[in-house]
Amino acid sequence: MQNDPRSHGLWERTAPSAPPTQPLAGDIKADVVVIGGGFTGLSTALHAARDGMNVAVLEGVEIGFGGSGRNVGLVNAGMWVMPDAVPAALGADYGERLLALLGEAPRAVFELVREHAIACEPETQGTLHCAVGAAGLDEIARRAAQWQARGADVHLLDAEETAAKVGSRAYAGALLDRRAGTIQPLAYVRGLAQAALRHGARIHTRSPALATERAGAGWRVATAGGAVTADWVVVSTDAYGSTPWPEIRAEQVHLPYFNFATAPLGDDLRRSILPERQGAWDTREILSSFRFDRAGRLVFGSVGALRGTGAPIHRAWARRALARIFPEIGDVAFEAEWYGQIGMTDDSLPRFHKLAPNVIAFSGYNGRGIAPGTVFGRQLAAHVAGRIREADLPLPLTPPVEARLRRLKEAYYEWGAQFAHFADARL
Ligand SMILES: Cc1cc2nc3c(=O)[nH]c(=O)nc-3n(C[C@H](O)[C@H](O)[C@H](O)COP(=O)(O)OP(=O)(O)OC[C@H]3O[C@@H](n4cnc5c(N)ncnc54)[C@H](O)[C@@H]3O)c2cc1C
Repeated sequence: MQNDPRSHGLWERTAPSAPPTQPLAGDIKADVVVIGGGFTGLSTALHAARDGMNVAVLEGVEIGFGGSGRNVGLVNAGMWVMPDAVPAALGADYGERLLALLGEAPRAVFELVREHAIACEPETQGTLHCAVGAAGLDEIARRAAQWQARGADVHLLDAEETAAKVGSRAYAGALLDRRAGTIQPLAYVRGLAQAALRHGARIHTRSPALATERAGAGWRVATAGGAVTADWVVVSTDAYGSTPWPEIRAEQVHLPYFNFATAPLGDDLRRSILPERQGAWDTREILSSFRFDRAGRLVFGSVGALRGTGAPIHRAWARRALARIFPEIGDVAFEAEWYGQIGMTDDSLPRFHKLAPNVIAFSGYNGRGIAPGTVFGRQLAAHVAGRIREADLPLPLTPPVEARLRRLKEAYYEWGAQFAHFADARL
């Protein structure tokens, strides 16, 4: 019922236990069967169950096994791409609708946390997107202007203000996004599961969906131990997807991302580094992110996979990089380490698919899945309940298309990050 601390690191060690769940045994009926127990699937399940629907969730491994249990925990508003690039890519209707929805998405997360009393260390003081050099400053200035034109509560900080908020002079400025914040992600996804169960959803873990077939107007989804027959199928497997819809995995390029957690820092360091507890990341192409957990551990991450030669290279780099950003931290030890795969799409935007009649999926979050997955799940539930038309969902319907040069790009991300972090030792 738990994930492995070797794959889920600090989050597995500090999250409340997952609610008890069992593999599916036998054949059951539901209004909607959700495949995948992450933010998207469990938010769908919670909202659909709250609407009075009969919901069954099939999770191949454990709750939060995928990106939802391994991420940094930055509850962001918006996507990686610049706000103006969203309507440029999707058209004005979809673009502005998506921006409006994602702009309020962190608030939706924190409201759910409050409403269901989810113990997931919420911090609501915002996030800091830290500018590296003049190019970084230009990027965040444009981003701030584009959000401010839409009335968002974002602020451009100069170098002095940034140094006070970050506790480091490494940055030329920062974009403070007061809509955003941080959570303990595995605790949050387990809390969503607990809330969905309380509203009557059934959650079956260690129950990978293996095959689907038509059953009247609905579908029969088979696992090794039984099957769910339902009117609707919601596929929420994102970057961790496997059978029976491999096209969801194939439309994404996997970007590996690791995190290291220090031991709880001393009082002086906790007062000087991120004193207001914002979550932070920088504008570098191979970016770094850092945030505190509630116990005062600094969680520091960047691009790369902690396997093979990658593990020692990234570990040594993380020590050096932390000491450069926060010289007073000294030679820090790490208590936990883990990594996961981020699903990137060719245009850095998520996708909405109808894989067959009444089979729907959101995926491809490009490293922004906590708040978007939560609100997309809410919208999927409303769509299944007949309250939101397909055309009113936040993204246009597209067919899954295999990502260009997928394997080459995946190798480039993994080896490129190793090379960059190794070469950095010689700077
Ligand atoms: C290291 C890392 C850092 C990140 N940092 C952030 C961040 O700071 N902020 C942010 O917003 N986002 C971040 N993300 C992205 C975010 O975690 C994901 O976008 C989000 O978790 C996607 O949620 P999901 O529910 O759609 O999919 P997932 O959480 O990946 O869940 C998919 C689930 O489907 C299950 N599954 C797969 N196939 C089957 C099957 N056949 N049958 C049943 N179950 C199946 C898997 O076991 C998995 O549990 C990060 C991701 C990673 C990996």
